[in-house]
Amino acid sequence: MFVSENLSVNEKGNLTIGGTDTVELAKQYGTPLYVMDEQAVRKACQRFKNSIDKYYGGQGLACYASKAFSCLEMCRIVASEGMGLDAVSIGELYTAVKAGFDTSKIGFHGNNKTDEELEYAVDVKVGHIIVDNISELLRLEEIAKSKNVKPDIMFRIKPGIDAHTHDFIKTGQIDSKFGFALETGEAFEAVKRAIACENVNLMGLHCHIGSQIFDIDPFEEAGKVMLNFIAKIKNELGYEIKGLNLGGGFGIKYLNQHDPAPFETYMERVSEVVKNTCSELGITRPYIFIEPGRSISAPAGITLYTVGARKEIPNIRTYISVDGGMADSPRYILYKSEYEAIVANKATEERTEKVTIAGKCCESGDLIGENMPLQHAESGDIIAVCATGAYNYSMSSNYNRLQKPAVVFVNNGESRIAVKRETLDDIIRNDI
Ligand SMILES: *Cc1c(COP(=O)(O)O)cnc(C)c1O
Repeated sequence: MFVSENLSVNEKGNLTIGGTDTVELAKQYGTPLYVMDEQAVRKACQRFKNSIDKYYGGQGLACYASKAFSCLEMCRIVASEGMGLDAVSIGELYTAVKAGFDTSKIGFHGNNKTDEELEYAVDVKVGHIIVDNISELLRLEEIAKSKNVKPDIMFRIKPGIDAHTHDFIKTGQIDSKFGFALETGEAFEAVKRAIACENVNLMGLHCHIGSQIFDIDPFEEAGKVMLNFIAKIKNELGYEIKGLNLGGGFGIKYLNQHDPAPFETYMERVSEVVKNTCSELGITRPYIFIEPGRSISAPAGITLYTVGARKEIPNIRTYISVDGGMADSPRYILYKSEYEAIVANKATEERTEKVTIAGKCCESGDLIGENMPLQHAESGDIIAVCATGAYNYSMSSNYNRLQKPAVVFVNNGESRIAVKRETLDDIIRNDI
């Protein structure tokens, strides 16, 4: 009935997430409120892990891309599922370290890492650093030399694959700020330089072609391109690349009409391609990394709002204004992302209207969505926006000096705060 499996309706006719009444959650913790379902996170982690076991003999690691949603509790849950983790900044890395994450399972990303970030990553002994460019390689070599260590690195490669998704979330094509280009020979030259470095160990290659990708074909293509490059390195330089990171980007269901391929199918097909291509090319099968972010956290989350004003503009549209907006849910103003919304206290009623849900920020583009089918909503109703667990809290801001909402985890009918709601004093915390 609803877009995410963990949503249902209880005997009061209220929407539930992970067995917990969302109207009660709104009452107890206030709105806007981010709600994350712990079991949904765990199940997603297990699906990734089990698929690698089943289709690739366990010779791989699924690393949660923590930029999708990061806080101490999320890192602890992901760690307890035996997952690895990706961090793209010192802040994400620090969060994982403070959560007690096994740093040997962390990959450190970023297209413009600072020296401070590189030093920190080396000091906390991350499993590997995914190097994006030559300047970074040389700076890391210096840092590692000064600390007398030899960190494992991977190179981020642009495989030249066009994933069919929004321009802002495509990353595999040659015109991208991320990584080394294959076509121009840039990547091959970089590999030669890395091999000549004394204080870094080039253990793998990485690619990530984009996000919210529904098709498996571009992933298969990327895998083949990368393996061919690994073969070229072996044949021409006599150097064996042992790890292959195939990135993340698995699409999720934001609307009922979305139909992403199940992750198990992805892993089955990509494993076949990797095995076959390796035999054809006569190279050893690499250890595989994948980096799901959205597919782990998005379906696990919802955002709850309270309706304020209802504004009907005859023959034009109806605005339903809520007590949050682009500050806590910036994806619509960024790339017109679509969501399903439900009036949580009227969850059994028909959706009889098509409305624009507007935020409270001073921007006309501050919308949760347009043309959204919804039950008749009035002041005081609670609206749940579904599948918001990725790239909302993590991209949230204090625009208009709004306080960031709390994050609550639910688990089989119980709830607990994971991130406190900001106070007014938090708003001026760093002001002097
Ligand atoms: C963002 C990102 C991911 C995760 O992407 P999702 O679409 O959230 O799965 C994985 N790897 C890299 C390098 C990324 O930048």
